[in-house]
Amino acid sequence: MKFTASESLILKLVNIHKEISRKSLSELSHLSQASITKITKRLIDEHYISEGHRVSQGMGRKEVLLSPNPGKFTFLGIDIGGYLVRMALSNNNMELTYKDEFYMSELNEHDNKGEMLLEKVTQFLESNQITPDMISAIGIGVTGLVDAKQREILNIPNADGWDHIRLVDIFSQNFGCPIYLDEGGRTMAIAEKVLGKAIDITDFIVVQVGFGIVAGMMINDQLLRGSSNVSSLLGHITADENAGRCLCGNYGCLENIITFPMLELEYTKRNGRYASIVEAYEQNDKIAIDICIDTGKSLGIALSNVVNLFNPSSIYLGGPIFDGLPILFEETKRTITLRANRFATLVLSLEKNSFGTEQGIMGALAFAKMNFIEELTE
Ligand SMILES: [Zn+2]
Repeated sequence: MKFTASESLILKLVNIHKEISRKSLSELSHLSQASITKITKRLIDEHYISEGHRVSQGMGRKEVLLSPNPGKFTFLGIDIGGYLVRMALSNNNMELTYKDEFYMSELNEHDNKGEMLLEKVTQFLESNQITPDMISAIGIGVTGLVDAKQREILNIPNADGWDHIRLVDIFSQNFGCPIYLDEGGRTMAIAEKVLGKAIDITDFIVVQVGFGIVAGMMINDQLLRGSSNVSSLLGHITADENAGRCLCGNYGCLENIITFPMLELEYTKRNGRYASIVEAYEQNDKIAIDICIDTGKSLGIALSNVVNLFNPSSIYLGGPIFDGLPILFEETKRTITLRANRFATLVLSLEKNSFGTEQGIMGALAFAKMNFIEELTE
């Protein structure tokens, strides 16, 4: 079934706000109350949305809140990270029903990585008695480069053997539903926009630091893609020429300084005496603290440049290193405040992202859903 532009807009608003009154829908959409009544009736009759709580809004009578109908669709999200591949199913309200994960290294020895990934996903679904025809749409986020048509993984800088994998075609062999592929930073930005803290923010950046660095930038409410769909490669900007050669071929990439393995490596290089930098940090170990300050500065300098170029109002940082090494977060923040132009930082906030280590999987699911809804329009 296809919707008019107005119906589609209302459907999107209900999905983004999760609970919203007809009055608020009218205000946000600039459609008349009468139009809203008609449109919401159709969406309710077709089971896309449903009526929920009644709330008082000011002096007026109680209003019914509208929500997405949880059972209407099932989404499958796949988050291909540098270290872990996460898979999850959600209902139409983005509540996870099943999830699982496996190490990226499990795919290492196979040449046909796309087919192996499909096999892992198929096993995950079978173990939960889910058949492919029960899936409404699939969203895949990958910490790598994706072609402009968003059908093919061009390269994963931190993993071998992922060049030119036509993942959408491979998954289409088993699934009849729409399959959407994008770079993980962008899907994480979608999660922040539609499910997280950025719901009312038009210009923001999401940065996730794990085994690699991914970033997604939303500028004027649009995802930044660039001419070949490879913008926002924050991890591969040169941050220190002396930091050695990166797996991407360049020297001194930010990823050579501040990923989880790089911090551990630096701790070992400086002859740290604890088993891990996080453990050392907990014991107030000076070497660990010095590394956090040095690397926080590098990340802060990189982000200062981004702030000066794009003037976002929020940066959402995520990844276990910021939880395990809080001073790293503080030093990044301090450096941005110090280095970025003071007019660009006037309203800038730097905060943790909304979903922590699940940012990628929530992103893949939100990406599937938002694209899927978009395609319901006439
Ligand atoms: Zn690089």
